[in-house]
Amino acid sequence: RVELRNVTKSYDGKSDVINEIDVTIEPGEFFVLVGPSGCGKSTMLRMIAGLEDISKGELYIGDVLSNQLPASQRNLSMVFQNYALYPHLSVEQNITFGLHTKKISKSEQKKRCIETAEMLGLSDLLDRKPRQLSGGQRQRVALARAIVTHAPICLMDEPLSNLDAKLRAKMRSEIRQIQRKLGITMVYVTHDQTEAMTMGDRMMILHNGKIQQIGRPIDIYNSPANTFVASFIGAPP
Ligand code: ATP
Ligand code: MG
Repeated sequence: RVELRNVTKSYDGKSDVINEIDVTIEPGEFFVLVGPSGCGKSTMLRMIAGLEDISKGELYIGDVLSNQLPASQRNLSMVFQNYALYPHLSVEQNITFGLHTKKISKSEQKKRCIETAEMLGLSDLLDRKPRQLSGGQRQRVALARAIVTHAPICLMDEPLSNLDAKLRAKMRSEIRQIQRKLGITMVYVTHDQTEAMTMGDRMMILHNGKIQQIGRPIDIYNSPANTFVASFIGAPP
């Protein structure tokens, strides 16, 4: 599980970008974090990842108080919005890049790479360079790079925002399938209401760094906690 207790974050020591967030994300859960631009979604994800300090409160990963744990020891993987592939490396090298620092043998790396590529339909593309791929294929490589680590927790920050509507819909269900199959705990950031409503076991709606509501999409749709939530998810008044 990933648990935030009373977590607050301010960048300048003045205003709180994240304000007293209390939430527990259960093992194997697909948890969606949604809200308008600037509400603090990426900040929250980056704090969980260890890329940003927590100003106040506690972060638990598993049972371990992890506020001070270095990012490399958190046993999680992250997919960034721009998916930052290495242009000079092949698809295979991109996928296995993060495994080099862990003590994983060459043959195990190869085995995992082949498995993961198969899962994501990349088997025939392993020798290509990123520039020889379509946007959707590049997106898959970014996902593969996270999956191949076998990390039990995966954080994704608007991973589909650069894709067209049709491809987004396809990738949504692919991500969901893989997450279920591997039992990954997912924290998934989006500002797309459809994505949040269709993908999440639960969703959390954030506004100005504060939790507006947490729950199953259907429950939130049927009984939004306030007018902000209602208008944000387009529920009937
Ligand atoms: P978007 O949907 O546009 O990606 P977001 O919900 O991910 O938005 P954050 O990136 O978490 O929002 O930013 C939340 C607030 O914190 C914004 O007001 C932003 O300007 C501010 N902020 C983010 N990073 C920093 C930083 N490094 N230093 C100072 N302020 C920052
Ligand atoms: Mg963001």
